[in-house]
Amino acid sequence: MRNCSRCGGRLRRIHRTFWERFSYLAIYECRDCHDITSHPRHYRYHLGEHCRCPRCGTLRVTRLKERDHIDPLNTGLLHLLERLAGGRLYHCRFCRVQFYDRRSLASPPPRTEEVGEERKSAAKVK
Ligand SMILES: [Zn+2]
Ligand SMILES: [Zn+2]
Repeated sequence: MRNCSRCGGRLRRIHRTFWERFSYLAIYECRDCHDITSHPRHYRYHLGEHCRCPRCGTLRVTRLKERDHIDPLNTGLLHLLERLAGGRLYHCRFCRVQFYDRRSLASPPPRTEEVGEERKSAAKVK
């Protein structure tokens, strides 16, 4: 169980409203200062303009040329949709998981074949 980020006190899980259930996996309240901490659902990582790890949400993912047979591939309906929508294969080295995402990297690593293409799309965003 995590502790309160404000006072370090113990957190207790509180009831979510109907709408909160769509957005949060869990909501906690501190027993001491009553500060609220929420855990957003992972599909929120599918929103936004850059590619993110579906598990930890980091933007620091790397592009894979082909599937790695050592690390597991993240599966599920959203990932199937990303793949069908023309998603590319990415890898999170923190979670050691592979996944498909149709968005580009937040900061493309230098010296890859696609640098030119990635830079162009990044410039368009700005
Ligand atoms: Zn607290
Ligand atoms: Zn990750």
